[in-house]
Amino acid sequence: MASIHTYNFAGKRALIRVDFNVPLDKETFEVTDDTRIRAAVPTIKHILDQGGSVVLMSHLGRPTGGYENRFSLEHIVNHVSKVIGVPVKFAGDCIGAGAFEMSKNLKAGEVMMLENVRFYKQETTGTESFAEQLAQHGDVFVNDAFGTAHRAHASTTIIAKFFPNDKLFGYLIEGEIKSVDKILNSTEKPVTAIVGGAKVSSKIVIIERLLDRVDNLIIGGGMAYTFVKAMGGKVGNSLVEGDFVDMAKSIMEQAKAKGVNLVIPTDTIVADAFSNDANTQEVNIGEIPDGWMGLDVGTNTIAACKEVILNSKVILWNGPMGVFEMDKFARGTISVANVIVEATAKGAFSLIGGGDSVAAINKYNLADKVSYVSTGGGAMLEYLEGIELPGIKAVRD
Ligand code: AMP
Repeated sequence: MASIHTYNFAGKRALIRVDFNVPLDKETFEVTDDTRIRAAVPTIKHILDQGGSVVLMSHLGRPTGGYENRFSLEHIVNHVSKVIGVPVKFAGDCIGAGAFEMSKNLKAGEVMMLENVRFYKQETTGTESFAEQLAQHGDVFVNDAFGTAHRAHASTTIIAKFFPNDKLFGYLIEGEIKSVDKILNSTEKPVTAIVGGAKVSSKIVIIERLLDRVDNLIIGGGMAYTFVKAMGGKVGNSLVEGDFVDMAKSIMEQAKAKGVNLVIPTDTIVADAFSNDANTQEVNIGEIPDGWMGLDVGTNTIAACKEVILNSKVILWNGPMGVFEMDKFARGTISVANVIVEATAKGAFSLIGGGDSVAAINKYNLADKVSYVSTGGGAMLEYLEGIELPGIKAVRD
């Protein structure tokens, strides 16, 4: 398989599938968070430095019926230029004579961007003839969009077959794959996974898979109360998924059988309303008074997590410990974030993967103090679940 480390891009037009699905201000259409654009810079720079040219291809939002101004990638062209430090030409379409003319005439060191591929429904239906047209823009295909690697779309997956020998991953995807593999196949121990967030149901497959690979599994967030219920505790109005109580029991049994140290919260901050203005108190987790709900982990739980995390060599964090969007219930999440930073400084490898823990680590400005922050979201979760992502498979095959 070709690799970005060894491929010779000199004189080649590299068609890069990037994930520039960035948030835009609703009125000015300015980019409000350019993390994904900055993440693509190493791959783009590498190709330009080697004497190649770059055609950037992405989607933005979820347009449903053709062109829509609010989803036009034209809004981000200047921002991308600024971030990569090179002027970026814009093709007002992703296929068609004008766009092909522009990419055909691209010279070494030049960069252009195609219009939103999702303005064509053939993108999401993965239509081969559409992928074939997109493929005309490049001599080599570089997939650097991990966030869409779980979709078998034309520009993420189907397109790869038109580059039988000239297809490879960019630095971003490569980094994502390597960091998850480091967690799942670690030879260093102990390995600790912290899984939080709202619901057990959405994390069940990951939890079961992790049980075969980790030494410690810390449960946090809303899903903890389903476990507490399974142990016969009183959970008040806390979030509980009744259908998953038996599943929680089974996870506890599996953990025991497999020798995994399952850390379930022992105390909790409860509130009398789902609000930052609610009254709160700290109680044992199985003794939540009627009418109260658990919205964060408590002091003893934080201490227990700290001890486990600080002793770990490899750490995965997915999902917040409480309703961290409200300051009153953010302490558990902040504490875990800080302890992961401390463990990383001591030499542990830490991966922050999956939506809201990524939001949390960014909110607390700690992203550069952990080993790797995934940009993948849903794709990262599926990769952790062991699903072979179509966008990854298409480049590997
Ligand atoms: P997820 O997308 O499954 O990772 O869930 C993230 C969401 O879980 C965040 O929006 C949190 O506010 C929410 N969450 C965390 N802890 C709790 C809790 N104890 N009760 C209700 N929601 C929670």
